[in-house]
Amino acid sequence: MTLASKGVRFGVAGIPHSCPEDSSLRAVDCLASLGLEALELEFVHGLKLSPETAGQIKIKSSQQGVKLSAHAPYFINLNSEDQGQRMRSQELLLNSLRLAAVAGASDLVFHAGYYGHQTPEETYSQVKNGLKEILSISRLERIPVKLRVETMGKRQQFGSLDEVLSLCRELDGLSLCLDFAHIFAREGKINSYRDFYQVLKKVERKLGRRALASAHIHISGVIFNQRGEIKHINLDESEFRYDEWLQAIIEIDLKGTIIVESPSLETDALRLKNLYYNLKNKGNSPEISRADHDFLDTE
Ligand SMILES: [Zn+2]
Repeated sequence: MTLASKGVRFGVAGIPHSCPEDSSLRAVDCLASLGLEALELEFVHGLKLSPETAGQIKIKSSQQGVKLSAHAPYFINLNSEDQGQRMRSQELLLNSLRLAAVAGASDLVFHAGYYGHQTPEETYSQVKNGLKEILSISRLERIPVKLRVETMGKRQQFGSLDEVLSLCRELDGLSLCLDFAHIFAREGKINSYRDFYQVLKKVERKLGRRALASAHIHISGVIFNQRGEIKHINLDESEFRYDEWLQAIIEIDLKGTIIVESPSLETDALRLKNLYYNLKNKGNSPEISRADHDFLDTE
């Protein structure tokens, strides 16, 4: 079976709750039987997946038509003040890319790090230098995995939308993972059709249509305070306007993978998938006129 290469795929981060076994290999079958099409393998607490299991996951996912991505460990910090820690972070990110490749994942998402005591500018150049090395080794080794830097929800974390867009523009081979719950939490706004559409247009303007034609998105409900994200929650318990968000991705004709990170995982993924196709079949844009869209396109 071939992977659906066009359109939008919905999936989850980690093992669905309804899966009878706590195994990524089994999760691929569970997702396929739920009608979902993507799985993000969680390397977040370390690279514990054995190469043997990774190889089996690769075969299974291609049989089941489930697209795989992976999420690198949380303790990576490319801006650590400790040089040893920075080196270990680089090595861990590289090893995550290598393991993702063995598992057949096409994309690896990571959190770049923290500002610590440094300015955003200092942090940016430190992160950029680290990534440059990782990308050049990845190219040398011909690792067939797209490295994706994520937009982050806490204000002490490097990864505002603008920072991530600039990095992707500057570094050949770097792509982005747009986490809309994080963008909402970090900014304390960006929660309407108009806002979402503007974010997507900005991505298109900075990185080209390609970024929206093979996008990688994280989505969930979220609660936050003035420091940004506190935690992910389910969509229906959150203020996040996911119906308007879906309208925006339909209007802009986004294609790619949408990974749901709500605590309920598959429940929210199926909710979004169903609503997406309902809205798409209805075909009407929300309460915003064509003239408004033209205006937003050029803003
Ligand atoms: Zn993440």
